[in-house]
Amino acid sequence: MTTAPHSSADYIDLEHRYAAHNYSPLDVVIARGEGAWVEDVEGKRYFDALAGYSALNFGHSNPRLVAVAERQLRTLTLTSRAFHSDQLGPFARDLAALTGKDMILPMNSGAEAVETAIKVTRRWGKRAKGLPEDWGTIIVMGGNFHGRTTTIVSFSTDKTAREDYGPYTPGFLVVPYGDIHALRAAINDETIGVLLEPIQGEGGVVIPPAGFLRDVRALCTERNVLMIADEIQSGLARTGRTFACDHEDVVPDIYIMGKALGGGIVPLSAIAADTNVLSVITPGSHGSTFGGNPFATAIGREVIAMLATGEFQERARMLGDVLAGELAALNHPGIVEVRQRGLWAGIDVDPGLMSGKELCHRMAERGVLAKDTHGSTIRLAPPLVASEDDIRSLVAVIADSLNA
Ligand SMILES: *Cc1c(COP(=O)(O)O)cnc(C)c1O
Repeated sequence: MTTAPHSSADYIDLEHRYAAHNYSPLDVVIARGEGAWVEDVEGKRYFDALAGYSALNFGHSNPRLVAVAERQLRTLTLTSRAFHSDQLGPFARDLAALTGKDMILPMNSGAEAVETAIKVTRRWGKRAKGLPEDWGTIIVMGGNFHGRTTTIVSFSTDKTAREDYGPYTPGFLVVPYGDIHALRAAINDETIGVLLEPIQGEGGVVIPPAGFLRDVRALCTERNVLMIADEIQSGLARTGRTFACDHEDVVPDIYIMGKALGGGIVPLSAIAADTNVLSVITPGSHGSTFGGNPFATAIGREVIAMLATGEFQERARMLGDVLAGELAALNHPGIVEVRQRGLWAGIDVDPGLMSGKELCHRMAERGVLAKDTHGSTIRLAPPLVASEDDIRSLVAVIADSLNA
């Protein structure tokens, strides 16, 4: 290209030509973001009802997080774990306090934290349960989404995510999500862990039957296997509590966190567990060059401080109530089902009316960004800094788009 890209079409063309087609984004080219709103290269404003799949729970360019990021950027960004930094220790202490666990292990992407939980669980199976080398099954749920690594897609039930990426990693067993009887029947002497999302975000905000998480907790304790909760999308205030597991007063053996932990600024993920579990990790047996770096952990520590007050959890509840009220009042025949917890909703559209993608396209034309999943479902996860009016307008735009 000889001339500088200019219009949305120019940027879309560049991406299409030079970046692999592993996504199919809406035709919107975002250039700026503040709070719950973004602006495209032509200056058109959109309400961001996806918030980076909950990575932007605190909004775009959150002033508190940006201030910490700017300060740390000028001070120290990376040491590697070959040396200590003055940021990792305080971050680890604060994240342990937030989760109520003894220790944490920091990584970068969510998938890496899931991989970390799998490795820890496998070692725990050998070292705490005394299983032989080739033993150790982790039970996972149908419809899961835990990331994109070869091991993780090995136990995905989504054809698009998994197809032709074999040979697949063994050691996983899939049971239907929310089915405690199937889970009980599947656990045997080889089982070392149960990995699940307390709410399946990617699956379309699928909420398991009431009591399911509590039953999983009891079963895992009874059978001496680890309960591993992937709270990467459901955690950190999205559902109105710090963790989605909190709604059933359930404490898993391992929390997996990511997305909003980095404040929408950096990739920052971690697992948290007690010493009897995490002490299976010994020097050299796991790591990451950028994992726990001072730049990311400084931001993560501010995120934790913001969560510690409970104000964002409260906002998710309050705005969630507004969203639920508006959607109920709408009572649109084109909406088949709404599943919601806190400020997080999966809306199933009558596929006879239009696809989720078509609805998102119409919403974008009307200034709201949302994401479809599984054909006829759209997912709403606006930043928790949105206003009540933003939420009301969002539902008005949904109505308008369905009627158009
Ligand atoms: C997004 C997500 C992941 C993967 O996180 P990445 O940062 O994209 O690797 C894993 N589990 C859940 C539940 C997620 O929502």
